Amino acid sequence: MKKVALVFLLAVFVPSLVLAWLAVRTLRDQQFLLEKQQSLLYQGVADSAAKNVQDLLSDDERVFTEKVAALLQRTNPAALAKTFDDNLRGDWPLAQVGFAVTLTGDILSPSPYSRSDALTFCTDNSRFLANRESVEVYLNPKQIGNSLALNAPAQSQMPQQTELKDANSESSKRTAQLKGGNRAVYPQQSVGNYNNIQKFSQVEEQQQQNTFSKVAASEAEFRQLIGEANDGTLARFVDNKLNVLFWYRARRDSPLVFGAQIALPKLIEELRPMIEQVETALHEEICVALLDDTARPVAKSHSEFRGNWKHPFVATEIGEALPHWEVAVYLLDPAKLTRSAQSVRLTLGLLIALLVTAIAVGSWLIVMDLNRQLTLARQKTDFVSNVSHELKTPLTSIRMFSELLSEGRVEDVAKQRSYLAIIAAETARLTRLINNVLDFARLERGEKKYVFKECDIVAIAHETAETYRPHLEANGFQFDCDLPGSPIMINADRDAIAQVLVNLLSNAEKYSDPRKEISLQLARQSTPLPHVEARVLDRGLGVPANCGEKIFEKFFRAHDSLSSGIQGSGLGLTLARQIARAHGGEVIYEPRNGGGSCFILRLPLKTA
Ligand code: ADP
Repeated sequence: MKKVALVFLLAVFVPSLVLAWLAVRTLRDQQFLLEKQQSLLYQGVADSAAKNVQDLLSDDERVFTEKVAALLQRTNPAALAKTFDDNLRGDWPLAQVGFAVTLTGDILSPSPYSRSDALTFCTDNSRFLANRESVEVYLNPKQIGNSLALNAPAQSQMPQQTELKDANSESSKRTAQLKGGNRAVYPQQSVGNYNNIQKFSQVEEQQQQNTFSKVAASEAEFRQLIGEANDGTLARFVDNKLNVLFWYRARRDSPLVFGAQIALPKLIEELRPMIEQVETALHEEICVALLDDTARPVAKSHSEFRGNWKHPFVATEIGEALPHWEVAVYLLDPAKLTRSAQSVRLTLGLLIALLVTAIAVGSWLIVMDLNRQLTLARQKTDFVSNVSHELKTPLTSIRMFSELLSEGRVEDVAKQRSYLAIIAAETARLTRLINNVLDFARLERGEKKYVFKECDIVAIAHETAETYRPHLEANGFQFDCDLPGSPIMINADRDAIAQVLVNLLSNAEKYSDPRKEISLQLARQSTPLPHVEARVLDRGLGVPANCGEKIFEKFFRAHDSLSSGIQGSGLGLTLARQIARAHGGEVIYEPRNGGGSCFILRLPLKTA
């Protein structure tokens, strides 16, 4: 048994657990992949929106240069420089201020006294444009390539650019932070924290250290910045307010540079439609927003959406033209991801529970079957020894008495008769036993044949009882036979029914100690259907509780030979029941009132 359990454990249980573990891993990986794909998809949306914004800014810059070139064709540069602010604004609404500056640093336009915007512009930029001050600026990449060598990277003035907190940070991170500073947003996707969206705030600090901006600021004077280029874009923060400037000069050696400070509200109006058009397929899933440098949404695809703007799902920086501005993507239903993760976990849990239950049930069934097989094997062994013993006992008697008689050692006629009776009884017992074993073997192989004929069960019972009576009475039994006066016809195999009755009577005899009273009763019954009932009653040991059904199982013996000393094969009742069932009837056991057993054989009546 232990060996079987070990084999089962090694062959079934352990591999099943390994398989379950592999299934869990695979599903978890699948979930991770799905989330990764989703984040890549949304990252693509953010990237393409950021690219569109960059393209629009490039277009605007091109429009600006064309407009200046056109103005220069109409008017001479010196005259245009004086009225450039008015001219440009009249022609191009995106310009908040138009400026013209000489390479020597004279600001020809706008006049600081003309209007408040011009005054603010001059206050903010006059020192820078006059090359008297180095400031921190963001240049577009093409310009960086062309421009003169710039000063060393400077510490940012941005409010969100905090001092490095972690003294142990890697040096590469430190360099990145010094050049570009932190981003204003902390995309969840950046730390691969797909499954723990709700725990975002807990990892915020870690993310702050991880989300460095790719946009780098450099410190330079205006002259240095324009270098050898003809046109360009530069952005700078003045008092934490973003100024975006386009500049243009007709020729490299031209002493005049024309420029424009872009009206950000108007630029945002231009950008708005671009942000508002989210792909229809994703419209139900995400909100796309354009965030300014303080992570405030200036345009968004879902006007009613309110989110934690600093914590988008994914985000892409626009670039140097709009430094620290980002296109951010928010999940409209962040819980959906968690829910789907939960449902995967639930499915997984259920699957594993199912698997474990199946393994447990399977194991239980196997153990039960094993037990049954073991019991059967034990019963078979018992059966062999029981049958051998049952064969030996009558054979010994037969041999002994026949030898006595044959040798003529018994002269008393009464004794001779009695010995002959014993020999007959023992022979009958042997025949019964051998018949039972043979019939059982035939039944097991499905070879048992019945010869059904119309017959009178009263006559069968009478004949069997009278054949058995001398034996019973000789052994001191009181045998009552209560049979109806008229025949009861059934359709049956006469010998098989007689065999059932003999088996029942023989059992009643075997298990009747010490009260030797046996009755055979036969009666017609009408409920539930008309049938005939033969009852064999005794006042013997009775069948132990809970064994009422088991005694009909093959080889089962409620009173085993060792403890009870009663010989038997455990086949008599099995055969009786199988024969009865083959006739459409049944054999059952009932404890008898007042002690003893009652075995009932029910058979259907012969129908017309
Ligand atoms: P056996 O050869 O052991 O008698 P049976 O199939 O005829 O085999 O009976 C099965 C078991 O049923 C017996 O071993 C015995 O324990 C129980 N049994 C059968 N008849 C009686 C009875 N009349 N009284 C008490 N127990 C009985």
